[in-house]
Amino acid sequence: MTPEFDLIAKYFTRPAKNAALGVGDDCALVNVTRGCELAISTDTLLSGVHFFADADPFKLGHKALAANLSDLAAMGAIPRYVTLALTLPSIDATWLEAFSRGFFALANAAGVELIGGDTTRGPLSMTLTVLGEVDAGKALRRDRARTDDDIWVSGTLGDAALALRHLRKEIVLSSGHVEPVLSRLHMPTPRNSLGVALLECAEAAIDVSDGLIADLGHICERSSLAATLAWALVPQSPALMSAPLALRQACALAGGDDYELCFTANENQRAAIDAVSASCGIALTRIGKMQAGHPEVTVHDEHGAPIKIAAAGFDHFKR
Ligand code: ADP
Ligand code: MG
Repeated sequence: MTPEFDLIAKYFTRPAKNAALGVGDDCALVNVTRGCELAISTDTLLSGVHFFADADPFKLGHKALAANLSDLAAMGAIPRYVTLALTLPSIDATWLEAFSRGFFALANAAGVELIGGDTTRGPLSMTLTVLGEVDAGKALRRDRARTDDDIWVSGTLGDAALALRHLRKEIVLSSGHVEPVLSRLHMPTPRNSLGVALLECAEAAIDVSDGLIADLGHICERSSLAATLAWALVPQSPALMSAPLALRQACALAGGDDYELCFTANENQRAAIDAVSASCGIALTRIGKMQAGHPEVTVHDEHGAPIKIAAAGFDHFKR
């Protein structure tokens, strides 16, 4: 076999489980459950942009898939299949072994099956396409928020951004806080079971990958509504709470890579959402309201004054 096919066979071929035809032909073949829609999302991770070139390959395999699964979580879709287009500078067996182990560990845990991809030579990057299933017409869309909806967020925000500042030596964290925030940055947990559970009680949802203000801003734009948040309610980890206020606000409101879910729901769903939080074992916190108005996010401090954040979120083409 040529090195390319050898590599695919060795590191990226597993027996098909649910797919009618997996890796090895020109296309994969899958059946779609009757009454379901396919939710499809693609994400690219580029060396030097999304991760450092010397990043731990096991964690990278995990994170590349986690970032994509998070998009399915945001729609409430059940993960089914994934494709992986990998561009590699060279064939490095140690790197490939660790990367594929990290990838398949999460794939197996999430019940998602690798059914194909592409392998090319060039600067290190990976492009994944995930396919999920959701009952037709039921997906959690960005354009479904309604006036007076509560705004909720899962888990805590800002830890991944805090970890990045720690790695850049811009802050010093106490030793007990280092490991938890680094794991939020390198091994994020996509909220798939939460997303599916929210189908029954939420209106609109998005995953927080570029920062809360930026991502909730997309719900505002697509739903033509304003969002008002109370800074005092935004959930933060003990590590983030130990940082100076301006840094806490920058990380929690504008930091990327959290992969938590932000969603809106009618006020009459509060008890149902508390029950989802208990059954999923994930904190869900009410942080604000959707209102009629210009589609933008306003965050108030404890005195009711709006908080100004320098960079609202990451944009690849912003100068
Ligand atoms: P083609 O020439 O038809 O594009 P390829 O030679 O690129 O096919 O790939 C051969 C088979 O291996 C295909 O089924 C493809 O989906 C699969 N494949 C290639 N690269 C990967 C990868 N990184 N992970 C999983 N499957 C892959
Ligand atoms: Mg190909």
